[in-house]
Amino acid sequence: DFTAFFAALGQEELNNYYVKLQKEYDDYKSQKLSLDMSRGKPCPEQLDISMEMLDLVKSSDSLHAADGTDLRNYGGLDGISEAKELFAQILGVSAKEVLIGGNSSLNMMHDTIARAMLHGVPGGGTAWGKLPVVKFLCPSPGYDRHFAICELFQIEMITIRMTNEGPDMDAVEKLVSEDDAIKGIWCVPKYSNPDGITYSDEVVDRLASMKTKAGDFRIIWDDAYTIHHLTDQPDPLKNMMDACKAAGNPDRVLQFASTSKITFPGSGVAVMAASENNLAAIRKQLSVQTIGPDKINQLRHVRFFPDMNAVHHHMKKHAELIKPKFDLVISLLEAELGDKQIASWHKPNGGYFISLNTLDGCAKAIVAMAAGAGVTLTKAGATYPYGKDPQDRNIRIAPTYPSLTELKTAIQVLCLCVQIVSLEKVMGQQGE
Ligand code: PMP
Repeated sequence: DFTAFFAALGQEELNNYYVKLQKEYDDYKSQKLSLDMSRGKPCPEQLDISMEMLDLVKSSDSLHAADGTDLRNYGGLDGISEAKELFAQILGVSAKEVLIGGNSSLNMMHDTIARAMLHGVPGGGTAWGKLPVVKFLCPSPGYDRHFAICELFQIEMITIRMTNEGPDMDAVEKLVSEDDAIKGIWCVPKYSNPDGITYSDEVVDRLASMKTKAGDFRIIWDDAYTIHHLTDQPDPLKNMMDACKAAGNPDRVLQFASTSKITFPGSGVAVMAASENNLAAIRKQLSVQTIGPDKINQLRHVRFFPDMNAVHHHMKKHAELIKPKFDLVISLLEAELGDKQIASWHKPNGGYFISLNTLDGCAKAIVAMAAGAGVTLTKAGATYPYGKDPQDRNIRIAPTYPSLTELKTAIQVLCLCVQIVSLEKVMGQQGE
């Protein structure tokens, strides 16, 4: 597994290079850094651009929806129609297919799985939880919190390799056609967490039309980054709801999104979109669970975003703030690691992450070493089911929160650790 760069160095040069890197690492260590790149959080400047939204609901206002609903009171299980209209446009569905939730789409996904486990879903007879085993396909690297939901409900996770176009569909089609215990698949179809990949049209069509042995198979379409572009040429994503309808499987997809990374994480509005058939069943159960979500926050959001132009204008401001951070990471990776063949990465056109793949068996050691110098990264392995990366090579970089200065240092430390750990591996192999 020698890389050309290291192989070209003689034994002595290699040793000198290693000593030089170690010294640089020790220098960083003595700086007592405390830099956190572990979670995909907007930076304070990003939060600032939504502050005016807080002035759009005032005590002197009439807090009534267009249909006359008094938003200060109970009522409205699935959201105000203005909010449904807005999200219908964001998600490319009809307003009748939208259900507005609370402040977290993760919460909605969790509850969706919980309801399926307890009561089942339309098209399936049995509650999933009553079956001897339930399995989900997990394209990986993926979003750790999806996998945590499966773990909580003891849903067996099957790792599916990610390609540059989305999940490995040959593997997906084969598995779902043979095993009726496989009830679903987690998908982050646009600017995926963490790879930043957008599913191709072919992947969307194959997911929508594939034959599943389970009659109640569901695609959890977590479109969290659907409008989170970094460039003026956004990745196109084929409309999954349309594809499912065209394939005669209108109930197959459950879409999710939120304004967490549009306005305020934790104080945004979450949404689910699904066929009217699915939503009818969900509303029935939801009406026992809650009297309704926060309509005043929905009003704030629809006033802040009167139309899609306002949404896109706002997302451009986010991009202006975070694109320099993505550019910095990519250029540092290029400069420090580009010629060494010890790591690879994908340059995303949107979303919140850059996914770094190192040599096999190095990610855990790199993340630990970076932590030793005060740089916190997402735990190695977190991007795989059960926290176990079979090749121990994926590292998720979340560049949005730190300042440019902090980010520069953090990525330099990371690149240093990638080199040191890779070199140790190479030198170890040389000695064998
Ligand atoms: N889905 C994905 C893919 C995410 O990366 C995140 C984290 N922002 C979430 C869902 C959580 O979103 P929410 O704040 O709406 O729960």
